Amino acid sequence: MRAGHGLVAVALATVALVGGCTSGAPTSLPSSTAKYTEPPLPAKVIPVLTDSPTPTAAPAQCGDPTASLRPSTAGGPTIDAIRARGRLVVGLDAGSNLFSFRDPTSGAIVGFDPDIAREVARDLLGSPDLIEYRTLGSADRERALQNREVDIVVKTMTINCERRQKVTFSTVYLRSNQRVLAMKNSGINGIADLAGKRVCIVRGTTSLDHMRHDQPAATILTVPTWADCLVVLQQRQVDAASTDDSILAGLAAQDPYTQVVGDSISVEPYGIGIPKGDDDLVRFVNSTLERVRNDGTWDRIYRQWLSVLGPSPGPPAPSYTD
Ligand code: GLU
Repeated sequence: MRAGHGLVAVALATVALVGGCTSGAPTSLPSSTAKYTEPPLPAKVIPVLTDSPTPTAAPAQCGDPTASLRPSTAGGPTIDAIRARGRLVVGLDAGSNLFSFRDPTSGAIVGFDPDIAREVARDLLGSPDLIEYRTLGSADRERALQNREVDIVVKTMTINCERRQKVTFSTVYLRSNQRVLAMKNSGINGIADLAGKRVCIVRGTTSLDHMRHDQPAATILTVPTWADCLVVLQQRQVDAASTDDSILAGLAAQDPYTQVVGDSISVEPYGIGIPKGDDDLVRFVNSTLERVRNDGTWDRIYRQWLSVLGPSPGPPAPSYTD
C-alpha cells in the first residue's frame, strides 16, 4: 500500500499575493487562516511503502551466532577458485556515506566496509585492488550469497541466528548500535518518542525487526536504501529514521539539521557474509580479520572513517566454535 502521508504536496508555498508587487510596498503575508503544516514537497518524491509485517516465528536460536571457525590460511576449493579467477567478488552498498560509498573525485568505492574487503583481497590475491564490487541492497544480501553471485558480502550485515540458517559468517569485525536519526529540535529524543510517528527503515534489515518489536505504535515506511531514508526525512515524508549508528552517522554528516538521538536500541555485530559450506574461505577471512585486529590496520581504518562516532573502541574480540 502506498502511504498517504506526505505524498500530497502542500500548496502553501504557492499562495498568490495579489497586487503586492509595487516596489517599496510592505510585504504581504499569507492570510492568518492559512495553517503551516509541512514544507512543500518537490515534484519528484521517493515512493515510501507502509510496512506490512508478516507474522514472524519466534527468533531462531543457535547458541552464540557470532562464534565462527578458527583462522587458517591452508586454503581449499573456494580459495582455489577465487585465485584461479584472479578477483574477489564482493557484495556491498555503494551509497552509504562513510561506510561504503563512491568517492566523488576518484570514482572509487571507499569506506569502512570496502577497506575491510580490500584487506581480504590483499591476503588472498596479493593486491587490495583485485576486487569486483557488486552493489547489493540490504534485502539482497542472503540471496546473493545463496545464489553464489558474490564470494563475500561486506555490507553492515548483522550476524544473527536467523541469517545463519541461510549463510555463514566470519568473526565480528565491528559492533554498532541501532539508534534513531531525527531533525534537530524535533522533540524526538529516542525510540519512546516514535509512538504515532512515521519512521523510515530499509526492508530486509534487523533494524525493521527491532522497530516492529520495540515500538509497535510507530508507522513504519520502507524504502530501498538508507540514503533514501535521509531524503524522505528531509522532505518530511517521515519524522525519523532508525538503523545502526554507524550508518546514521554517515547520514547525519550530510545534513547538519539532523542528529542521531537516544540510547542503543540493540547491539549489532557485523560479520562478513559467506556462502554456507565455504569453510576454507571462512577460515581464510578470519585470518585476515585476526591480522587487521593485531597489526593496527583495524584501528587505522576505524579512525579514517568512523571517528565521527568517537574514539576507536578497538577491534571486537573474536569468538570461535572450534
Ligand atoms: N545491520 C543491519 C542489518 O544487517 C542494518 C544494516 C543494513 O541495512 O545494511 O540488517
